[in-house]
Amino acid sequence: MLEFIRKMLLRKFHERKEEYAKWDYVIPSRVNAKVLKNSGESRILTIISAWELEYEVFGPCGLYVVKLRQYSYGGGSWQKSSIPCSHAMVTTSLSCGRDLVKDRATDYVHQSLSINTYLQTYKGMIHPIPQQKMWLEIERGELLPPPFQTQPDKPKLQRLKEPDEKAK
Ligand SMILES: [Zn+2]
Repeated sequence: MLEFIRKMLLRKFHERKEEYAKWDYVIPSRVNAKVLKNSGESRILTIISAWELEYEVFGPCGLYVVKLRQYSYGGGSWQKSSIPCSHAMVTTSLSCGRDLVKDRATDYVHQSLSINTYLQTYKGMIHPIPQQKMWLEIERGELLPPPFQTQPDKPKLQRLKEPDEKAK
């Protein structure tokens, strides 16, 4: 079981590092794909700008308030997933312009989903090890259990006797 987990992690770490080498985005590809999907879905939404990067966004699911500066959105999915939803995307698009939205949208993705965090996760290395029969024999004494220490006794509970109960 342990060997299975070790091999799986060894493979995964390698795959993730190879995957990263092909990226040219500033956020991981899966996150980027979600941002683009939400951006596409935002096209059907209607938006009214209030002031100071606060907006009312209206769509098929109703009306929501988006506060870009606070990274907050009334529907809550932006806060939960850390990726701007379609409502948040339509406001970023309005605040920075349709042409820049692809680059700027990553500013509104939480730090925990950044490339740096991704790299930190897979920074370590799981070193390959030979099969067990190839391991070197080492001199060691007999393996003994730790010395046993008698623990102090648990205090006996004094139960109150019923008035008609006889003493033992
Ligand atoms: Zn939304």
